[in-house]
Amino acid sequence: MTKKIWLSSPHMGGKEQEFVKEAFDGNWIAPIGPNLNEFEKDICEYTGSHHCVGLTSGTAAIHLALKILGIGKGDLVLVQSYTFCGSANPVIYSGATPVFIDSERLTWNMCPKALRESLEDLYKKGLIDKVKAIIPVHLYGMPAKMDQISSIASNYGIPIVEDAAESIGSTIRNEQTGTFGEMGVYSFNGNKIITTSGGGALVSHSKEHIDLARKLSTQAREDAPHYQHEMVGYNYRLSNVSAGIGRGQMMVLDERIAQRRANFDRYMRLFESLGLHEKIKVQEESEIRYSNRWLTAVYFDPKYFDKDTSTRLRIHLEALHIESRPLWKPMHMQPVFNDFSYYGGTVCEDLFYYGLCFPSGSNLTEEEWQRIENGISEFFR
Ligand SMILES: *Cc1c(COP(=O)(O)O)cnc(C)c1O
Repeated sequence: MTKKIWLSSPHMGGKEQEFVKEAFDGNWIAPIGPNLNEFEKDICEYTGSHHCVGLTSGTAAIHLALKILGIGKGDLVLVQSYTFCGSANPVIYSGATPVFIDSERLTWNMCPKALRESLEDLYKKGLIDKVKAIIPVHLYGMPAKMDQISSIASNYGIPIVEDAAESIGSTIRNEQTGTFGEMGVYSFNGNKIITTSGGGALVSHSKEHIDLARKLSTQAREDAPHYQHEMVGYNYRLSNVSAGIGRGQMMVLDERIAQRRANFDRYMRLFESLGLHEKIKVQEESEIRYSNRWLTAVYFDPKYFDKDTSTRLRIHLEALHIESRPLWKPMHMQPVFNDFSYYGGTVCEDLFYYGLCFPSGSNLTEEEWQRIENGISEFFR
């Protein structure tokens, strides 16, 4: 049997098991312990965040961020439509209503123009006071246009919760994604650039926010010898065992970014050698925008390609035991979010129909690379 090439698989650095062993040796098999403290410190140090809490998932981190902002029934949260459902589901958990916003064509992330239009429209409708947060996403590692988004948000006094689940290590003017908003969210799910097998983190410059998140994540227990509760909490704290994996992974994060960026470059060389580089589009870096290139995603320009190109290519690769995946299906096109409003055009819809993500693991071998390159070349010849 030919070995399957996965889109993005976990890639351990080597030190992870030592930290996990420490957890066992100290019997810190709990959502508390030295690995957890150190992992949070590592994240602060790496990202320049002042405060960090380790959580069970990125989705949990977004949920807590919304809780901390006091968001509930009747409130509106503006969410980038082009994303994974983990960005939007917490809005529903908190009882609020999502409003979806289109992307722009350079970064594929939240379109500042569509954002401004949505706010102007909600203002006209007398709903502006209901808008309690904006959630831009840095998809596939590419930073969103945070300068414009932040300035629009601050004009209206609306806090930003940055979904940096896919973009740890990506920067804007050398500042880390996740640190521009009121709060930022990272994910350490198994397919992300680094993983704790499952996990996430919430970061902020505000100590109050993170103290509250820590309390809410452990069932909001009050300071008393018995179990005293004055708020509804959650069981969202990361395990000290998982945090041990995270500590090992933080040590190799820069290496992983270099490897993922090299993957991207290699795909670009491949498309160039096939004479296709002018006919495809990718998320664009700039002088200020630097991406960890978590996944290499390619858009087959409708000017040159049929609508079924990405599907046919995906099936062609599947037959060669190579996993590829359509780009995110926008949230406003998902049956579960049918009832909610959407501002923008067809940018994210086009990305969904004409795009494909290629195997982007940091652990791809040369032999696997050759299979991928041959597979893609064969399809286009
Ligand atoms: C992975 C991801 C999340 C959710 O993170 P989990 O840890 O899987 O809950 C949220 N948003 C985006 C954009 C993601 O890719």
